[in-house]
Amino acid sequence: MQTITLVSFGQFPKDILEKTAEAVMEEYKCHVNMRDGHLDLGEFFDAARRQYDGNALLKQVQSMSFPESDKSLGIFNVDLFIPILTFIFGQAFLGGNTAIASIYRLSNERYGMLPDQNLLADRLKKEAIHELGHTLGLIHCRDPLCVMRSSTYVEDIDQKSQHLCVSCRSILEI
Ligand SMILES: [Zn+2]
Ligand SMILES: [Zn+2]
Repeated sequence: MQTITLVSFGQFPKDILEKTAEAVMEEYKCHVNMRDGHLDLGEFFDAARRQYDGNALLKQVQSMSFPESDKSLGIFNVDLFIPILTFIFGQAFLGGNTAIASIYRLSNERYGMLPDQNLLADRLKKEAIHELGHTLGLIHCRDPLCVMRSSTYVEDIDQKSQHLCVSCRSILEI
C-alpha cells in the first residue's frame, strides 16, 4: 500500500484538508499523512504576473523529503501559473512523486458567488485526486465523469466525479 503525504502551505477553511485526505485515501486505497509545510512564498511570486510560479513550487515540494511517503501533494491557497497558461488549478510530474494544487480558483467567492464550503471541498478533492493520478502515470481521460478529465474552468471540475473511470482504474491496477 502506498503512502501519500498532503502538505498544506498556509491557511485553509476548516475541514477541507481532512475531507480531501479521506477522499484520496478512499480513491487510491492508500495511507495519507498530513503535514504543515513552511515556505516563504514570496520567493515564488512573479511580480509581473502577480501570481506564483507553479513550476518552481512543484520542484520545491519535490525537494522536500517526506520519509515513508511515496507521493506528495503540496496544497496552496495562492494563484498558480505556468508560463504557457493564464493559471493552473494544479500540476504534477507524470509518473513522478510530486504534485501541487491550489484552492485559490476553486472558491465560489472568486467568481462572485456565495461561499459554499462543501462545494469548495469537493473541488479540492477532485483536483487532488486528479493531480495524484498524474503521479501514478495516468494521462487525461475523455470520459466526462472521470476525475482524470482535464478541467480548464471550475465548471469543468463540477461536471466530473471525484472517481477514476473503469478504464483509468484498470491502468493503475496493471
Ligand atoms: Zn491534468
Ligand atoms: Zn478515466
